[in-house]
This record gives sequence, C-alpha cells and structure tokens, in this order.
Amino acid sequence: MQVSPVIPAASPQVPGPATSTDILQKILDTAREAVIVVDADLRVARTNIPAAVAFGRDGLDIENRRLSEVVRDLDLHEAFRKALVSQASADVRLELPTKDKRKFDVHVAPIELDGTACAIGFFYETTQIDRLEIIRQEFLSNISHELRTPLTSILAFVETLENGAIDDAENNQHFLGVIRRNAERMHELIADILELSLIESGNVSVDIREVKLSHAVNDVVNTLSAKANGQDIDLRNEVPETTLVFADPVRLGQMLTNLVDNAIKFNRRGGHVRIAHARGEGRDIVTVADTGEGILPEHSERIFERFYRADRARSREVGGTGLGLAIVKHLARLHGGEVSVNSVLGSGSTFTIELPSL
Ligand code: ADP
Repeated sequence: MQVSPVIPAASPQVPGPATSTDILQKILDTAREAVIVVDADLRVARTNIPAAVAFGRDGLDIENRRLSEVVRDLDLHEAFRKALVSQASADVRLELPTKDKRKFDVHVAPIELDGTACAIGFFYETTQIDRLEIIRQEFLSNISHELRTPLTSILAFVETLENGAIDDAENNQHFLGVIRRNAERMHELIADILELSLIESGNVSVDIREVKLSHAVNDVVNTLSAKANGQDIDLRNEVPETTLVFADPVRLGQMLTNLVDNAIKFNRRGGHVRIAHARGEGRDIVTVADTGEGILPEHSERIFERFYRADRARSREVGGTGLGLAIVKHLARLHGGEVSVNSVLGSGSTFTIELPSL
C-alpha cells in the first residue's frame, strides 16, 4: 500500500508575497551588468554591486543619492528623465570622466515598481571591446601602409622596365634587384603578420623541456654570423656549456634570433653582441647586449608594440618589419616569462628574456 508523504504544516512565519521591488532586487543581484533604478525624483532607488563598483567612487554609497551626483552626464540624465516623464526608452553612450575612462552602452527604460513610476538603466560595459576595435583598426591601417611602400616601389620599377629599361644592359639587373628586395620585404612582413596572429589567437602551444642554452645560442650565432661579419660585428656566446633552461627549443631559437638580429642591425661597425645567462630567483635570465646607439627611454616600453619603431628611417634602411619584438614578447609570455630592455643612449642596449626555471 502506498503511503502518501506527510506534508509539514506551514510554518507560522510565512513570508508575505514578494513585491515587484523584491523580485527586481533579486534579479539585479544576479546581473553582471551595472543596473540603476531611479525614482520620480531622479534619486537612485535600487542598484546592484556592479553599479556600486562602477559609480561608487571612494566607497560612496550610491543608493538614495541623486543620479546627477552619481554619474555626471547630461545625456544620461536626460534619458532617465524622458523615461520617467514620457515613458520612452533611450540608448546612450557613456564615458566616465575617471582615470580609467570606462565606457558603457546604456539602455534606459520606464518601469513600474509596486505602483510607482521609475526608470531603469542597464549599463553594458564596452571599454574592452572599444579598445580592441581601436587596436584592430590601427593594425589594419599599419599593415596596409607597410605593404603599400614596397608594392609601390615594385610597380614603379616594373613600369620603368616595361618602358624600355629592360634593354638597358647597365641598369636592368639593378632594377630587378630592387624589385626582388621589395618582394622579399613583403614576404617577410606577411610571414611575421601570420606568425603574430597565430600566436595571439592562442593557437600556439609551447613544448617546454630542458634545453642546453649554449647550443641554442650557437645555432643562432652560426645562422647570423655572415650578417655580423658583413658589419664587422663580433658575436660572443658567453653562456656556459652546462647551462640548462626550460623552454620550447624552436621558440627559444626564434626569440634569440630576433634579439640577436636586432643587436646586429642597430649596432655600430666594429661593435659586438654578447649573449649571456644568469640565474635569478626562480628564473633564468638570458641577456643579449649590444654596443649600438641605444634607445631613448620614451621608446623603451613601446618598441614591444606591433609596428612601433624608435627610428623609422633607420629601421627601414636596415630592413625590418617592426614585428620582431612583438613576437618575442608574446613568445616569452607563452613560456610564463617576460622580455624587457635596458639601454644607455650612445653605448648600447641589453635585452633580457626571463624564463621560469621550473
Ligand atoms: P624591426 O623590424 O624594426 O627591427 P622590432 O620589433 O624588432 O622591429 O624592433 C622595433 C624597434 O625597436 C626597432 O625598429 C628599433 O627602433 C628598436 N630596436 C630594437 N632592437 C634594438 C637594439 N638592439 N638597439 C636599438 N634599437 C632597437
């Protein structure tokens, strides 16, 4: 025989029916977006934690304050006023006048709470999206600009050849050489752009293992020795034979190649490049030091940005995509490390890769 479950008698302290304000508050408490509800006097009647964080500067409790005290923005004020007076919804763009300049898309709508006309504003933060959009636009315009320069040169020399220079035995090889160099430049640029976007997309993983640093450095020195000899630059591997670091061998080679290549390009004739190692606390410190012209402090941070060059003309002259250091920065971070530079104007720069020593 089935026994029906015993339903306990209702407790004597049954809460009363939830008001619409209570329900709204529950919803607000679960929302990720900042939400502000104002009453007919344009005072903050309800809010949630994200709103308190965004607008409660210096621990200011925003509830019961006038909206104009909490956020000083005429358009936003007007949108709330219209929602109260004309029952009309509105969308407003808001940028906070604070240091971090947080940006929001705000949707304001009329709402009735327990018989009282109020207005509710949902603040969707767009700071990060806006920032990424600017970076994307800058990146596209930089790429177009970088590609246009060699392409213009190629087209001009092809036209010169077509217009008769092809039969000019003294110069035609020179013109072809210019075309080849510019085509190579475009090729290099596209390879670096692809490499960088692959790394940035998060689709590159590093296979970290024990690597004999001096061997990795020797490979780079051998590859770049002809270039260094051409400028009478002495490449010195000062890493002890036994030093082990933890890195992806291919990616370590790529980082070192970019740094040593720069150390040659931006060096002076007869200068030298030293690659060395030191052990820090829980870190392996790999340094590439040159005797070049150095870098002004205002450029030191920015040279790790894509396409940033301290000296545009020099970089173009020595051949570079402006992406090498951005690639090194991303690769170092993929290893849980970091890259930085220390430079003394007129006497040289030292680039440092720090890697966790597992
Ligand atoms: P590039 O292809 O121009 O070398 P990078 O991203 O490798 O691009 O470097 C960015 C800029 O940083 C260079 O254009 C140059 O102005 C500066 N830079 C990089 N390495 C050195 C160095 N060893 N000495 C002086 N300036 C350097």
